[in-house]
Amino acid sequence: MNDPSTSPKTPCSGNCACSGNSAPPPADEPTGISRRTVVKALGATLGVAAYAKALAPLTELTKETSMDEFIQKHYKELSKEEMAAVIQRLTQEAKDHYGADVTISDPQPVDGVKFGYALNLSICNGCRKCAEACHLENNHDRPSHQSYIRVFEMSKGSMDFEKGNAHYDHPVPQPDKYYMPVQCQQCEHPPCVDVCPVEATWKEKDGVVVVDYNWCIGCRYCEAACPYHARRFNWTKPQIPAEEINPNQSYLSNRIRPQGVMEKCTFCLHRTREGRLPACLEACPTGARVFGNLNDPNSEIRWVLENKRVFVLKEELGLKPQFFYFFDE
Ligand code: SF4
Ligand code: SF4
Repeated sequence: MNDPSTSPKTPCSGNCACSGNSAPPPADEPTGISRRTVVKALGATLGVAAYAKALAPLTELTKETSMDEFIQKHYKELSKEEMAAVIQRLTQEAKDHYGADVTISDPQPVDGVKFGYALNLSICNGCRKCAEACHLENNHDRPSHQSYIRVFEMSKGSMDFEKGNAHYDHPVPQPDKYYMPVQCQQCEHPPCVDVCPVEATWKEKDGVVVVDYNWCIGCRYCEAACPYHARRFNWTKPQIPAEEINPNQSYLSNRIRPQGVMEKCTFCLHRTREGRLPACLEACPTGARVFGNLNDPNSEIRWVLENKRVFVLKEELGLKPQFFYFFDE
């Protein structure tokens, strides 16, 4: 990806692992419109919280929605047996819709663990290997080059990523630039969670903000509320060839999401809750990324926080991101 100049030239929303060349979302939103229409109509007759919570699963009723999926409860209300049945159904759906044999787990937060991430901006070279690894690990739609990570090319001296360029299309690194990857900051006070009308998104004990893709109604309030532009909307049924599907999946992270729901970085919880590192970190050729347990005084992430002058993006908002940045000097 160092020289992306050979990619096809089409516009890009910047929410992907491409070089600014992927196709934009469709102009019309067939699924989103029907969801919002249903919700709006129901809202006219019921209280907001009551109608949304009670009838969220209705909005999942599409051509490909089974009755089991239609009546599925909220993640937090599922018993172990019910979750096992849901996972069995999703596994079968992956086989039926994609021809893929997948394993879907439901790893829980580990007691005493709170995840944090740090990024050394002095050595990030803007290669986008992290974004590419996210694209593959998290079973993103292939044609749109979707990724949870955007890498901004920044002018030296500027710290405002909104003024950076996520669509650069030239060899990196450029001499007068530095590079700032941005993904979900796993805020301690996440506004995306506060605005969800159906509680389809929440913060887990280990600090990871998750989405129940089977409960999300696709209203996109959370996307609008996120000041880091870290949420992604699934505009189409994801297209992924069977042989490219990552079969190691979990319910709350990288299983293939339905069309019309919101998704986001989960710090690769299907890996990290099992003691592995996020895929983006493993793919980084420069060692710019540091991940670990903030509660462990011997962890590398704690060393970084205690020995480097770290900062967070948009600190003035008071959201307390658990994603930190630093320079060597
Ligand atoms: S960065 Fe955005 S999506 Fe992630 S927790 Fe914060 S507000 Fe939510
Ligand atoms: S964080 Fe690592 S992988 Fe991502 S752009 Fe920077 S150097 Fe590349």
